[in-house]
Amino acid sequence: MRRILIAFAHPDDESFGLGGLIAKYVDDGAEVYLICTTNGDAGTIPPEMLNGYNSVAELRLSELQCAAQKLGLKEVFTFGYKDSGMMGAETNNDPQASWYVWQNNPDELIQRVVTVIRQINPQVVITFNRYGGYGHPDHIAIQRATEKAFFLAGDPSYMSGDLPPYQPQKLYFSSIPTFMIRLAIWLIRLRGKDPRRMGTNQDIDIQAVLDHAEPIHTKIDIRNYLDIWDEANACHASQGGGRIGFLPRWLRRLLGAKHGLTRAYPPPSHNKVDEYDLFEGVKFDESK
Ligand SMILES: [Zn+2]
Repeated sequence: MRRILIAFAHPDDESFGLGGLIAKYVDDGAEVYLICTTNGDAGTIPPEMLNGYNSVAELRLSELQCAAQKLGLKEVFTFGYKDSGMMGAETNNDPQASWYVWQNNPDELIQRVVTVIRQINPQVVITFNRYGGYGHPDHIAIQRATEKAFFLAGDPSYMSGDLPPYQPQKLYFSSIPTFMIRLAIWLIRLRGKDPRRMGTNQDIDIQAVLDHAEPIHTKIDIRNYLDIWDEANACHASQGGGRIGFLPRWLRRLLGAKHGLTRAYPPPSHNKVDEYDLFEGVKFDESK
């Protein structure tokens, strides 16, 4: 059985970032699992959307459930941390925020990821790139924890409950195509805004996203899954989900037919695209 574990931070990262790719692999018969570290409680929500929910977290997690169903995720592991803000935000001092936990007790997060890996035995693990996509502390926390957990899960001397050690075979970082980032920067400048100071709090630096982009080694054909991707995005209505596909469909099919990822392990010998399937070279153990 082919299994993929995606380790992300917020309810919506899975759809906005990897919706097409998840739908493709589920359709191919692979089991795709998700870790979502926070409950999305810091998301900005139009008040009328909160009708029928007790909290922002409850709404965000129900949106995640909707997306998980559309995409066909096998199981979602929610870690239940609070959202952190961007670097330096006051909320990052909350002991329940994932960035605070990563700063003060990193092994807690690492151990939780190791436990999931040993429980589901994925051959392939995907997380954010080392900049956490756009520098969000919650993204960076789970990225670092997952990179450590990827190797520790296979180490018999690393204890995590009584699950036997298990070593996944491939580690990938998700990425945003650089032409998309360049296009965004161009559009932002055209509107007279500063790409280094974007977002509601002007703390998102799009230029830095481009500067930290990592090379692409793997390209996955997802052209048949753009509709499901849109549907999963639409589940995250409180986060503007319906508006993510802002480009006309024909242009998206042209530009977004292939989804690129960075292969962190096994390390690539050249920084060029050399594979078209996440399971390329994976050895399957019939007993698992
Ligand atoms: Zn996120």
